Amino acid sequence: MENDHDMTPPPSTRRDSDVRMRGFASRALVAEALAWVDAQAQPLEREIALLDAACGRVLAAELVAGIDVPGFDRAAMDGYALRAAETTGAGEYNPLAFRLVGESLPGRPFDRDVDPGEAVRIMTGAPLPNGTDAVVPAEYASERSSTVDHHSSSITPRLSTFNPRPSSSVEITAPVSPGKHVGRRGEDIAAGARLLAAGRRLRPQDIGLAASVGLDRLEVVRPPRVRLLATGNELAVPGGPRGPHEIYDSNTSMLAALVERDGGGVVERLRVEDSRDAVRAALLAAGADVVLVSGGSSVGAEDHAPSLVAELGKLAIHGVAMRPSSPTGMGRLGEALVFLLPGNPVSCLCAYDFFAGRAIRRMGGRSADWPYPRIEAEVGRKIVSAIGRVDYCRVALREGKVEPLAVAGASILSSTTRADGFVIVPEEREGHAPGSRVTVLLYDAGL
Ligand code: AMP
Ligand code: MG
Repeated sequence: MENDHDMTPPPSTRRDSDVRMRGFASRALVAEALAWVDAQAQPLEREIALLDAACGRVLAAELVAGIDVPGFDRAAMDGYALRAAETTGAGEYNPLAFRLVGESLPGRPFDRDVDPGEAVRIMTGAPLPNGTDAVVPAEYASERSSTVDHHSSSITPRLSTFNPRPSSSVEITAPVSPGKHVGRRGEDIAAGARLLAAGRRLRPQDIGLAASVGLDRLEVVRPPRVRLLATGNELAVPGGPRGPHEIYDSNTSMLAALVERDGGGVVERLRVEDSRDAVRAALLAAGADVVLVSGGSSVGAEDHAPSLVAELGKLAIHGVAMRPSSPTGMGRLGEALVFLLPGNPVSCLCAYDFFAGRAIRRMGGRSADWPYPRIEAEVGRKIVSAIGRVDYCRVALREGKVEPLAVAGASILSSTTRADGFVIVPEEREGHAPGSRVTVLLYDAGL
């Protein structure tokens, strides 16, 4: 079995992709594997998502507004609707009186036209009555009543019922211009406006926007269904007992979290022993767009998955010129894409992130790019690599400088939890010298 984190020089790369069980005498370039992923992984068909379940999903079709929002001119403040032109000259020492003829409440409009010299008490969100074109805020108005003076100073509570007396009036102490404190019909959204582009990853406010134009569902890209298949006689299930020579399966939980992050849906988690029949049966199960196999991806006697994929479908790539994760494979099983991820957890993470995650993101309509924020930083301690392979080097940021982690074997998963992120060293470089600047992909956006 090939050791996934050995330090031997990389073998030559090859361009043909047919695979025989000949060990990794040659490996595909990372760029070739990425090109294969991009050619194979296309956005899935659309489906309908209820609004309540659509946040984070990817919009499949441009969203165009069917209605104006708001659908009518409305008050933007509590106050009095009137004709702006009639307020010219109003001031604290020159209050202008208007006949108070009624009230407009949200959802309960004033039901006739307003004549010159009249005003209507209005609440924020209420329709502006016909004939009026502005709102004087309540603080520049005082109601007067010739009989009972219960509306004397300012606006009454929202739930009051209004019984206008012929003698009710309101005095205005500030002028307003036409349109003042009025929300115009369509000022938020005009019917026909393009609201959200296809491919948009829906934010909470997008969900609100869709609701504001009256929608309760959206067309989204169907998320890829992913089956996880962990192979290994030595695997124990977290939460359960563990034999003396067993290890807990960390890859299944990690992969499930990665798939979810990338917008896929895990439909099944299988753990199978290293038997050809068991792996075959698990590979053949239907109902997944992507199958992620962890462990048994190399060229050893117990590594059944590669030859089974070649036998049952197509093994397009087996062995990639990178470290870790060189025993990575990928291919097709019928309609499903299958990724063979090495069992060593760091390799599993790395191979997922380079290839499988990219496929899942693309199928779900997301960007293929790394889902990690990038920063530029100076190398503090030498980052070692070798020409001919891509290195995924876990690094810590210490006083703003990039330092490779001392323990970085592919089996040391804790190296990825201690790391702040990673640096990808391309094939043509031997590494990065102290003082040079590199791009760090951060595991956590919070740094
Ligand atoms: P393999 O790729 O199957 O040759 O496994 C390489 C190494 O990864 C071995 O030490 C395995 O025990 C370990 N390994 C395989 N699968 C898992 C897993 N699901 N969780 C944690 N370690 C694993
Ligand atoms: Mg194994």
